Amino acid sequence: MQGHCTCGEIAYRLAEAPLVVHCCHCTWCQRETGSAFALNALIETRHIKLLSGRPGERLVPSASGKGQTMVGCATCGCTLWSHYSGAGRGFAFVRAGTLVDAARITPDVHIYTTTAHPWITFPEGAQVFPEYYRRSTTWRPEALARREAELERLAQEQQQQQ
Ligand SMILES: [Zn+2]
Ligand SMILES: [Zn+2]
Repeated sequence: MQGHCTCGEIAYRLAEAPLVVHCCHCTWCQRETGSAFALNALIETRHIKLLSGRPGERLVPSASGKGQTMVGCATCGCTLWSHYSGAGRGFAFVRAGTLVDAARITPDVHIYTTTAHPWITFPEGAQVFPEYYRRSTTWRPEALARREAELERLAQEQQQQQ
């Protein structure tokens, strides 16, 4: 699955399927996207393969107070993915709208729906959460296993660097 920024300078490819796709209705995402919600595909950062360009980074405020690192194109200002302090730099929240086949992405969960715009209706059977959710009972088992494996790999990598 490929994606790119608005001007096309930065192109990337996701080497794996996302772990989970969030449709986030929080007011932070609404402000950042200038829209009613954000569609974020979570993936191990190493599975984002750069095809062209060199993304820049910006640290911006986040709801947790710990900040969010936005990664994107310095030329057109398009954010491609983010790292949050909670998940760390090993995981990325890819802005699904920057994917060429974005329409094929459907959210696994709707979160922070207490601030969802009133005209939004949720599909039948959708996993809808007023705020955040419990990962262990929500993610697909293979996604949970992938996350565990990645956390272990990242810990080993960090140990080797010390
Ligand atoms: Zn660009
Ligand atoms: Zn949000």
